[in-house]
Amino acid sequence: MLEITPVPILADNYTWVIRAPNNDAAIVVDPGDAQPVARALKGAGFNLAGILVTHHHHDHIDGVAALASEGVPVFGPDDERIPALTHPLRAGERFDPPGLGTTFEVFETPGHTLEHIVFYGGGVLLAGDALFAGGCGRMFEGNAPQMVGYLAELRDLPPTTKLYCGHEYTAANLAFAQAVEPNNAHLQKRIETVAAQRSNGSTTLPSTLGEERETNPFLRWDEPPVVDQASQHAGRALQTPAEVFAVLRDWKDHF
Ligand SMILES: [Zn+2]
Repeated sequence: MLEITPVPILADNYTWVIRAPNNDAAIVVDPGDAQPVARALKGAGFNLAGILVTHHHHDHIDGVAALASEGVPVFGPDDERIPALTHPLRAGERFDPPGLGTTFEVFETPGHTLEHIVFYGGGVLLAGDALFAGGCGRMFEGNAPQMVGYLAELRDLPPTTKLYCGHEYTAANLAFAQAVEPNNAHLQKRIETVAAQRSNGSTTLPSTLGEERETNPFLRWDEPPVVDQASQHAGRALQTPAEVFAVLRDWKDHF
C-alpha cells in the first residue's frame, strides 16, 4: 500500500507526496510551488526521489525546476512546457517511479489541456485536473468527445481505485451535482460527508472511483436522470454522450 499525503499549496491545489511504507524516498505530484513542498519533505524526513507532472498549468509546474535541481527524474507528458522533464510519457506506457516499488500506467486525458496525462498504479489514480472529486476540469483545449472518451476509460477502472486530484473543489462540485440530480440518494449522503470534512478543515480526498461513478455527473452522461436534466437545461433532447457532457460542462461553467 502506498502512503499518500497532501501538501496544500497556493489557493486550493494539492501536491501529493507518495511513498512506499518504511521508505524515505518520496515522489511528489504536480508541485506548483517548491517551498511548501520542500518544507513538508524536510519536516517529515523524506528524500525527494522524483516528480510526476500531469499538465503544464503554472499551478502544477511552478515548483518543478527548483525541486528538480536536486537531480531527480521528472515524469510528465511529452510537452516542452514542462520544466526539467527527463521522462516524457505517452498513453499506455508503464514506468516505475523510484522508490515506490509500484508500476504506474499512463492515460492520455485531453480536454482540460491537450497534453494532460494521468497516472494509474497501486490502486491509485493521480488525476491532476482531468477528473475531480465530484467534477472534472474545465475544457480549455479539448472538446466534449475527447473528454467523454478518456472519462469513459477512467470510470472503467476498478471501483475501489482511490482518486487523488489536483484541487480541493469537492464541495462546490457536489453543489452542482445536486442541481443535476436532486434525487440521487448517494449524492445527498456524500454532500453531508464532505460538509463535515470541510468543517473539520480536513481534505475530502481521496475518494473512490466507485463513489465518483455514483455521484459525479461528469461520469454519468448515460444515466437517464442526468440525460433528462441536461436535456431540460439545453431545451432540446440530447442524443449522444458527448452532447450530454457538453451541456453539463457548459452548465457547470456558468453555475
Ligand atoms: Zn490545470
